[in-house]
Amino acid sequence: MRAIAAALVALFLASPVAAGTFDWPGGRKAAIVLTYDDALVSHLDVAAPQLEATGLRGTFFLNGTFAAKDIPRWRKLAQAGHELGNHSMFHPCPRAAFPMDPQFNSERYTVPGMLREIGAMNTLLTAIDGQTTRTYSVPCSISLAGGVDYTDALKASGAIAYVRTGVPSDAVVGDPAKLDPFRVPSRSFPETATADDLIAYVKDVQRAGGLGVFMFHGVGGDYLTVSSEAHQGLLRYLKAHEAEIWVAPFGAVMQRAAPR
Ligand SMILES: [Zn+2]
Repeated sequence: MRAIAAALVALFLASPVAAGTFDWPGGRKAAIVLTYDDALVSHLDVAAPQLEATGLRGTFFLNGTFAAKDIPRWRKLAQAGHELGNHSMFHPCPRAAFPMDPQFNSERYTVPGMLREIGAMNTLLTAIDGQTTRTYSVPCSISLAGGVDYTDALKASGAIAYVRTGVPSDAVVGDPAKLDPFRVPSRSFPETATADDLIAYVKDVQRAGGLGVFMFHGVGGDYLTVSSEAHQGLLRYLKAHEAEIWVAPFGAVMQRAAPR
């Protein structure tokens, strides 16, 4: 009996934080961030209009290969309170990730070269939205340049405030205060995902009283696509629970979780 009690105490002490103790704005119990990678047209055509109609704000991580004609549309999103984040200029990834011009294989990069590229993308984004504080999402969620992790160098450079990565299947952050703000996990979903699948992740975050970050690519189009119905269903749930769940852009939520 005593052994069981001791085990329970150990379990309690090991748990990162009691549910719902993080100080989210308005006494809310959890925070959800909606992020969209790769500057896709379906973000402009589908995701953003759904967000606007629901009154929610997200983060669009742009790499520099979008069409010049769409600049006014990205600018309009920023003016409406959405965040434009940095996703590098040329989206370098390991050569095994997908077919790409060899010069954009991350194996061929150096850390200073990678930082220079991220800096150039910052400049482009500032030209679009006028902002000077920037967040970053890691292309392919692999922060290697020439085999060296550039995360600490990026942090030291001061160019970026917070970094979203991908990685773990369990991206429920129980205690945001213990987060590494340069390695914030996120959750992506397969093309078969339904609204209920997306909402189940939100409910896990609510139970933990913490933070959850969605990583979307295509929404109702493009690739790695979540259907527009699933996305809409998620937004409907978030709107219906806005008294308990804080939905805000990545930079704003991270500023609360890990103030700079
Ligand atoms: Zn990407």
